[in-house]
Amino acid sequence: MRVRAFYLDLAHWATEEPARWGPWVVRCPISDDEIRKAKERKHRKARMDQRTRERLPVLPVLVSTANRRRLAAFELLRTAQATEPGTVIPGTEGSLRRAVTSKAAGHLTWAEETATGRRRNLSFEEEEAFWAFAAVEVLRLTGIRNEELLELTHHSVTQYRLPTTGEIVPLLQIAPSKTDTERLLLVSPELADVLSAIVRRLRGPAGAIPLAPFYDVREKVWNPPMPLLFQRQIGTEQRAFTPTFLRTLLIGAIAATGLIDSAGAPLTISPHDFRRIFVTDAIMNGLPPHIAQVICGHKNIDTRMGYKAVYPAETIEAHRAFIARRRSTRPSEEYRTPTEEEWDAFLAHFEKRKVSIGTCGRAFSTPCVHEHACVRCALLRPDPDQRSRIEEIRDNLIARTAEAEREGWLGEVEGLKVSLAGAEEKLAQVDALVKRQSIAVELGMPGVRQPAGTTEATRATP
Ligand code: SF4
Repeated sequence: MRVRAFYLDLAHWATEEPARWGPWVVRCPISDDEIRKAKERKHRKARMDQRTRERLPVLPVLVSTANRRRLAAFELLRTAQATEPGTVIPGTEGSLRRAVTSKAAGHLTWAEETATGRRRNLSFEEEEAFWAFAAVEVLRLTGIRNEELLELTHHSVTQYRLPTTGEIVPLLQIAPSKTDTERLLLVSPELADVLSAIVRRLRGPAGAIPLAPFYDVREKVWNPPMPLLFQRQIGTEQRAFTPTFLRTLLIGAIAATGLIDSAGAPLTISPHDFRRIFVTDAIMNGLPPHIAQVICGHKNIDTRMGYKAVYPAETIEAHRAFIARRRSTRPSEEYRTPTEEEWDAFLAHFEKRKVSIGTCGRAFSTPCVHEHACVRCALLRPDPDQRSRIEEIRDNLIARTAEAEREGWLGEVEGLKVSLAGAEEKLAQVDALVKRQSIAVELGMPGVRQPAGTTEATRATP
């Protein structure tokens, strides 16, 4: 394209200054066929589709492995912290010993393998396992891009109370970028769990998430410190995650599954794979930006989020300025005032989500793609109060399946079995939800995190 542009430039200049440029005008040696990208695009799409097909079925394995890995790393770290330095860590079958470290590295817990003497930073392993789990979950449940994930802040988690029913709709605000519109995504219960685990991990004794500055690679500016959801402490500094660190986390998470691709090589996964899987699995749109703007409007952002007591005013101002700057890079028609009909349609969408056995989780402006066969649908969030109704549906399906088998209605048996599997899954979801809600969460005692290198003597110095 560049070479062709050069030849075209020569032809254009020749019309303005024929004596100077005319002798250089010749036919471009790059033919039309050579710049046609259709074939290459088709190949790339086929490659990407193949990638998605390979990764979609293994996603549940990745999710459960990431969760197991973080729980195991947390348990190992906790056990190691309770072990005397120099002694074997219980539960490791004698393979790990807590290492003796200098006071300077006191906030880190080290262990060494008894067989090889190799030292392992258990604090870092736990941190890595947690953030890999968090990244996998947020990416798979939202389908957002990696740069959008790295820009999520505590302010991005917002809520809207429906004026008619008073129902609270939790939402996740995705900041507008040069290449995509601003969106508000519905927060599912699973996503809410992960977000609350992140917030709980980062939150200081005052309830606020530490503020971390981050560099906008595309706009080449430093953003003011914000309560980013993906940040970590390095030494005494809070640093935002980088795209490289995010990729490293995902590589570690997929390597732990031991999965291989069709060529027999270890499977790899990138943040964008989750987006493709998400789109393939369940097409979900965010709210249109002009409605997002009204909900996240400047007027009531602080009162609705309840952050006033937690964050200084300038942090909220910085967040507003960040969103305003990004909005200014988008076409202005995206932020027109919604019409009466559009606003009514928005409210009606959330009011119409209630179905007999729970709540429909489909996104705004998306139609029901499953013809209201809610019991089979992955988007249904079953209501624990409706357990008996789901049981009734399940029993009815069992009876109908038995009748269809008896009468030889084989065409119907298959469909009934799919519905039956769906009903049983919904019952399992209800049980899991009830169990999760009955577990008390140990929040621990708030404490002051000591920076690395702080000793008893320096701590005592006023
Ligand atoms: S079938 Fe699925 S998408 Fe349709 S209303 Fe029921 S839960 Fe919602």
